[in-house]
Amino acid sequence: IDFGELKVGRRVGQALTDMGFEEPTPIQAQAIPLLMEGKDVIGQAQTGTGKTAAFGIPIVEKVNTRAGVQSLVVTPTRELAIQVAEEISRIGRHRRIRTLPIYGGQSIDRQIRSLRQGVHVVIGTPGRLLDHLNRKTMNLSTVNMVVLDEADEMLDMGFIDDVESIIKATPQERQTLLFSATMPREVLSLAQRYLRDPEFITV
Ligand code: AMP
Repeated sequence: IDFGELKVGRRVGQALTDMGFEEPTPIQAQAIPLLMEGKDVIGQAQTGTGKTAAFGIPIVEKVNTRAGVQSLVVTPTRELAIQVAEEISRIGRHRRIRTLPIYGGQSIDRQIRSLRQGVHVVIGTPGRLLDHLNRKTMNLSTVNMVVLDEADEMLDMGFIDDVESIIKATPQERQTLLFSATMPREVLSLAQRYLRDPEFITV
């Protein structure tokens, strides 16, 4: 199986070749077709399995570069937000996708300026994302895909209320994905509340 069989387009295929990705990892082979079809997905996967590109590739394929914020990835830490933003930028480099990592500890004014310039994919930590929502400096009403990355970590870190407030700021008719290394009851309950008829995949 190669990326072409997963209906990855030419520009993204070229970016993956540039990155040295020759064939999809197991989570990518399972997730990409479901995500391209618009399904909600719960993925049980550790770091190192290629989970970032598993959602990053469909995000890049679906972005309309003439519209505003369409994808939102919520991560537990700033390090992960930066890493995910870099990977999505690399996957999108032949499509002029604008990604923005948003996390605490960084100048909020600079983030506001970047948001005003127009961004397609926002990757952020819960506290700072909520801060922008409360200040009305970020509009999530045009989002059509939400990814909760490392959901178990976000729950352990006490971000559950923030994550729920953020999800509620996005349209109901979105596609929602949840990735988690472990599936405790709280994670499944979050999925049950915000995902629609999800497919489970595990690696
Ligand atoms: P992740 O699990 O998303 O943190 O990815 C782990 C590492 O594997 C990252 O350095 C990715 O860039 C790399 N990677 C992801 N997918 C592939 C692939 N299909 N082929 C080669 N490397 C990959």
